[in-house]
Amino acid sequence: MKKLSCISFFILLIAGGSILIQNNFSKWGEAKEEQVMNKESGDSPPLAAKNISITIVYDNNPYKEGILTSWGFSCLIRGTQKTILFDTGGNGSILIENMKRLGINPEKIDIIVLSHIHRDHTGGLYACLKINARVRVYYPYSFPQEFQFRLQKTGAKTMPVDDAVKICNGVYSTGVLGSAIKEQALIIDTDKGIIVITGCAHPGIAKIINTAIDLIGSDILLAMGGFHLAGMSRPELEEIILYFRRSGVKHVGPCHCSGDLARILFKNEYGHDFIDVGAGRIIRFE
Ligand SMILES: [Zn+2]
Ligand SMILES: [Zn+2]
Repeated sequence: MKKLSCISFFILLIAGGSILIQNNFSKWGEAKEEQVMNKESGDSPPLAAKNISITIVYDNNPYKEGILTSWGFSCLIRGTQKTILFDTGGNGSILIENMKRLGINPEKIDIIVLSHIHRDHTGGLYACLKINARVRVYYPYSFPQEFQFRLQKTGAKTMPVDDAVKICNGVYSTGVLGSAIKEQALIIDTDKGIIVITGCAHPGIAKIINTAIDLIGSDILLAMGGFHLAGMSRPELEEIILYFRRSGVKHVGPCHCSGDLARILFKNEYGHDFIDVGAGRIIRFE
């Protein structure tokens, strides 16, 4: 991993004059409870990709027969130091039912990461916490205070995220991006490249990809999740796909809010490297 420590310059404009402040800092956020322990501990070696699996627990696109589809997104990451549920779909009963059908025990989840506040990503949270509240929940700091109070009452550990942070060995949050709708994406650093998982990509999928590459400093093995491209024109989509190619993204798995046309165009461009992501799919990296 590169660029962890660097000298940065903050320019503050105060009372019409400008003051230059030099500050030695890390790109990773400061310690909050069990988050980043110190400036250098944001760095841990890449994980063996072959040990990692990503199961799509919740998506509006179908993949495996017998797994329910509904608007929203959730996936489970296993084989990492901690078992992580990224987003929780829109409906708790559907989330728990799909977990059951996929042989996932919610009690085995250590960490829940919420990409952003929208209901189709947070709706299943409390159904999951009802079964297992011995988890740390990472969410954008901008979530309302009532959310934090309610979460604390369940016994779960509240982990508000602002800057990029280490979640467990080899797994990071991009930090909160965007202005109108604040959102974080998940990064898994592997020996084959980085995996980026997005909820809805409201801050822009290109911005998220860019942030992940900048933070970790290696190529992207897989970018997957909601890319928020529904309703975009063909030329706009082609430009985004070209950006993916230029950024060296090896595999793509657009789902949830990516839109049918985007999924078709990505598939045309990426061929065998396109991953058809839908409810019930298990992605492995052998
Ligand atoms: Zn959203
Ligand atoms: Zn969404």
